[in-house]
Amino acid sequence: MAKTLFQKIWDAHVVAQEPDSPAVLYIDLHLVHEVTSPQAFAGLRRRGIKARRPDRTFATMDHGIPTSSRDLPIVDELVIKQIAQLEQNCLDNDIRLYGIRQNAEKQGIVHIIGPELGLTQPGMTIVCGDSHTATHGAFGALGFGIGTSEVEMVLSTQCLLQRKPRTMEVKITGALRKGVTAKDIILGIIAKYGVGAGTGYVFEYTGAAIKALTMEERMTICNMSIEGGSRAGMIAPDDTTFQYVAGREYAPKGADWEKALANWRTLPTDEGAGYDATLTLDADALEPMITYGTNPGMGVGINAPVPDPAGLADPSQRAALQKALSYMALEPGRPLLGHPVDVVFIGSCTNGRLSDLREAASLLKGRRVNEAVRVMVVPGSASVKRQAEREGLDKVFLAAGAEWREPGCSMCIAMNGDELRPGQYAVSTSNRNFEGRQGKGGRTFLASPLTAAATAIAGVVADARSLL
Ligand code: SF4
Repeated sequence: MAKTLFQKIWDAHVVAQEPDSPAVLYIDLHLVHEVTSPQAFAGLRRRGIKARRPDRTFATMDHGIPTSSRDLPIVDELVIKQIAQLEQNCLDNDIRLYGIRQNAEKQGIVHIIGPELGLTQPGMTIVCGDSHTATHGAFGALGFGIGTSEVEMVLSTQCLLQRKPRTMEVKITGALRKGVTAKDIILGIIAKYGVGAGTGYVFEYTGAAIKALTMEERMTICNMSIEGGSRAGMIAPDDTTFQYVAGREYAPKGADWEKALANWRTLPTDEGAGYDATLTLDADALEPMITYGTNPGMGVGINAPVPDPAGLADPSQRAALQKALSYMALEPGRPLLGHPVDVVFIGSCTNGRLSDLREAASLLKGRRVNEAVRVMVVPGSASVKRQAEREGLDKVFLAAGAEWREPGCSMCIAMNGDELRPGQYAVSTSNRNFEGRQGKGGRTFLASPLTAAATAIAGVVADARSLL
């Protein structure tokens, strides 16, 4: 029987399936961080047990750690406690930790270091107590976020109870034009179909525009699948995937590599396999995207006007848009182009990889950021930071007047001292623009690294294509 990529991975990992019950799913890789794991480890301790597969469990610290100099003492009591707890929990359970004191040269945002280390591989089931675990689906893996009690379940059994989602093909036809990026594809999909379109489904991204993307671009797209409502997002593994994984620290080697490769080549969706639903987007017609509201689906092409609530027939949609525009203090009917911003944030698990920093630096090189704007460039991992510095990108950012920070989640989540002040506007390359996400009262426009860099230079929302 012809099967989809999702179906193949699901079938290979079901340990037990009772009628009308969730399946017991085997988990190949469990990623852990400091914020969602303390309760789960405490649960193990109460039960007098240890992690069942420490060799398939890897930890990092990213959400709460400050991204200012690592030489400075951390002042936040909660962060100090979370760091100490994670260190002790990893020690007690023989789990490898990429922290700020242990293996710090490989520390970073959990969804950036998994692929970097070669832990993320095609065909795997991957979970983490973080919703953007969908990122790992870019490798043809089934990756999704889990709650704290599920973190304990996976730590103790290496399995998870899961109801089987349906499959949705998200077909991106055509080719991206100059100045339009992977971030614009995913913002375009969510703007077109809404934040609930994928509820109950797993997305599989297909089409010529997806095939042409690098692995880092594919990760940007899969990362935001959850913002379209889906459980996970996947892309069929191909030579681009295999070349990325080959030679990385935890990638199979020698005969094991050949065996793995033969298996991975069987994973793409079979000809004739059906999806439960399909969405489409034409990459040829796509503009750089930017959000104007308080969920990632409230987005438009950068030249398009902010929609007018009066134009919406549905009363609940009209009320939601009115509320969002009121929070954002925006007038409908005008594009965001030219709107002043206070902060530009370039980083996060969506756009904190080397290629994102290269893109931003390509615009900032030889230019200055507007003096009214604070520009924070935060590499997604210590490896990204090192490589960027080898290439001199740090010098480009610093010469332009931007801040060059230590790796972490930073202003994506504002748990770490990096935050907007009430009323401030930011163009952010992260993935969420909810009320207060980047700081109480802060207002977020989500966009690509190119749009962020162009805005940093102009001091107002700008179209990067005018600078290319
Ligand atoms: S960068 Fe943001 S979205 Fe990504 S893991 Fe950190 S807090 Fe979550």
